[in-house]
Amino acid sequence: MEIALSGWRTRLYAELAAPLSQVLGDRTAKEFSSLRIHTVGDLLRHIPRRYLSGTELTDLGTLIEGEHVAVIAKVAEIKRYEGRALPGPGRKERPGRLEVQLSDGSGRLTATFFGRSHLLSWWEKQLREGVAGVFIGKVGSFRDQLQMSHPVFAMLDGAGRVVSTSEEKERIADLATGGLVGMYPATSKLPTWKVAECARLALATVAGADDPWPDWIRHEAGVLELTAAFAAVHQPASLSEAARGADRLRFDEALATQLTMAYRRADAASHTAQPRRALPDGLLTAFDAQLPFQLTAGQAEVSAAILDDLARPRPMQRLLQGEVGSGKTVVALRAMLAVADAGGQAALLAPTEVLAHQHFQTIKALLGDLGGGRMLGTPDVATDVVLLTGSLPANAKKSALLRAASGEAGIVIGTHALLADRVQFADLGLIVVDEQHRFGVEQRAVLSDKASSRPHVLVLTATPIPRSVAMTIFGDLDVSTLAELPAGRADVSTVIVDAASRPAWVDRAWDRVREEVATGRQVFVVCPRIGGHGDGGEGKGVVELADELRSGPLAEVRLGVLHGQLPSDTKDRVMADFAAGDLDVLVATTVIEVGVDVPNASMMVVWDADRFGISQLHQLRGRIGRGVHPGVCLLISTVPAGEPARDRLDAVASTRDGFQLAELDLEQRREGDVLGASQAGSRSSLRLLRVLEHADLIAQARELAATCVARDPGMTTPGLADAVRATELLASGDWLERN
Ligand code: ADP
Ligand code: MG
Repeated sequence: MEIALSGWRTRLYAELAAPLSQVLGDRTAKEFSSLRIHTVGDLLRHIPRRYLSGTELTDLGTLIEGEHVAVIAKVAEIKRYEGRALPGPGRKERPGRLEVQLSDGSGRLTATFFGRSHLLSWWEKQLREGVAGVFIGKVGSFRDQLQMSHPVFAMLDGAGRVVSTSEEKERIADLATGGLVGMYPATSKLPTWKVAECARLALATVAGADDPWPDWIRHEAGVLELTAAFAAVHQPASLSEAARGADRLRFDEALATQLTMAYRRADAASHTAQPRRALPDGLLTAFDAQLPFQLTAGQAEVSAAILDDLARPRPMQRLLQGEVGSGKTVVALRAMLAVADAGGQAALLAPTEVLAHQHFQTIKALLGDLGGGRMLGTPDVATDVVLLTGSLPANAKKSALLRAASGEAGIVIGTHALLADRVQFADLGLIVVDEQHRFGVEQRAVLSDKASSRPHVLVLTATPIPRSVAMTIFGDLDVSTLAELPAGRADVSTVIVDAASRPAWVDRAWDRVREEVATGRQVFVVCPRIGGHGDGGEGKGVVELADELRSGPLAEVRLGVLHGQLPSDTKDRVMADFAAGDLDVLVATTVIEVGVDVPNASMMVVWDADRFGISQLHQLRGRIGRGVHPGVCLLISTVPAGEPARDRLDAVASTRDGFQLAELDLEQRREGDVLGASQAGSRSSLRLLRVLEHADLIAQARELAATCVARDPGMTTPGLADAVRATELLASGDWLERN
């Protein structure tokens, strides 16, 4: 049969990419789209959550009212109540009913069917006393007894084969092939039996198509052929067959993502970059000589690796991850100085203006005279550091743009405003992206295009990423880790304040804030919402909380307010005042989450802490305990112990190990979210693969992917090219900026 490949190079990928409406019709396809299933491939990868064995009865004692379920039970007894002919013309009939007692051997459930006499007879014939069947429907109740009204059913013989059904059509027979009933994640419009029916139609469209992977890969991985795997998960003859099918699909996801990353790496490596070497007696040397502290061993090692990369004619693509406070800024700055030394420019991108501004100030302070530009009186190795953000006054912006374009500025710091077309660099040699999770891969690409040869790229992230996740998400980057914190860092203790059962503790928390301020320390109070001006959200906002504190428990302290909706000069002033110690308490939203560095801040109170995720709380807490003063973090919440939101707080309180918390966070949010596919309607390329659970599989796929690239650098194998194309197509929807 002729099929249109429309850009695909293998028949199977073309079939998988076909819109579901082609196979199921528009109406059904639309229902699937609410499950984020849009193509034949999506549906075939939507596999049963579990399989019921057609020969094992379900424990009816476990049913819960309101659930959609499929149970396997024996028909213990059928009672028939005839309807009555109603008086008057038209031979109207009041419907009769069948009451069917289902049994699992001990517990019971009533299934009820209403209908006219001929329907009752038909159901009665299909149901057989003493025989087991699958009954699918919603558990309701009648007079305090659980019951199902009009379940869809299929009666099974001793081997689990369907012998009769509630539906006149044969479709329900798909439910139980070889004695197993696949239970799909379903909705009320798409009950599991309907999904099974649709999956059968989808299976038929791919039947007989060749496997897209070369044979050697399949042998190496020891997996089923793809079409066989689809059949195995949707219509298994045994549980082990279903499991082997799922293994293949999972392997596909792992290999497709790793292949994509491997080819991206190869592509990056095929471009040239200008090698940038620090001068022996240049800016970097001068900077090192005036640094007020010694680099930790980790900083020195990572820094050396980066300088090494920069000296090569290939673009560096490196991710530097390190706990909050591990000192990534100095490492990044040393890289920027090396590039400036070599006559190039470095751009530092921050996720927010507050953070860009703070980087600017930190870097200016660290550089001292060395960052003052080449002027009379500055050292002759000095460079110019400029800040370029969207909210700069027109004049300042013009000057900054000029200095970037002329090459005068060795270091340009900004937000994504730097990505705007008007920004030109004379010789952009290095891009540093701080806090990667706020930036998408495309944005990195946009900036890279600004340079004639490719610039080197260094991505900084404070969110520790488990290795398997790093391979999946940042598989196109080399990863370095700063594991230790600089010596002399103080402890931070974290305490949960239960505001519901111990309201007095909240007052005590404010007392504690006053005590902290009295010893000369500073305090953050973080609130999830801005509030004020009726923003409609729930809970107290920063504005209200600050007002209450000002006119109550914290009347005596110098208190500032910071949130994203303030004008940018106000934000800058408040931040600067707090950093300078002119404010004691800063009541803020999560604008302080990333990067803000005030070593004198030793306490943090998080209001409605349960509204934050694990990683976010960890990031927030990283704002304190940065100096020598022991920190205390109070998490205020009204959520009772035992609720998931409270478990998150317990986790944060129990450890400061960012890696451990990142794994917990990931388990809770699932990977779809991590990959940026949490937005409604978007699709993730990972349906079955769990990046934590399947770390070994990912590592295996990574090796195979490297072999593929080595054997086929030009991506000429049709199946490999299609796999990469499919992943990139999904990614272009998923990878967009997340915030
Ligand atoms: P992060 O990794 O969170 O970006 P920073 O780079 O902001 O951390 O560093 C946190 C603080 O530690 C800063 O005040 C910085 O000057 C300081 N710092 C960095 N490296 C060292 C070191 N080797 N010894 C002492 N202090 C350091
Ligand atoms: Mg930082």
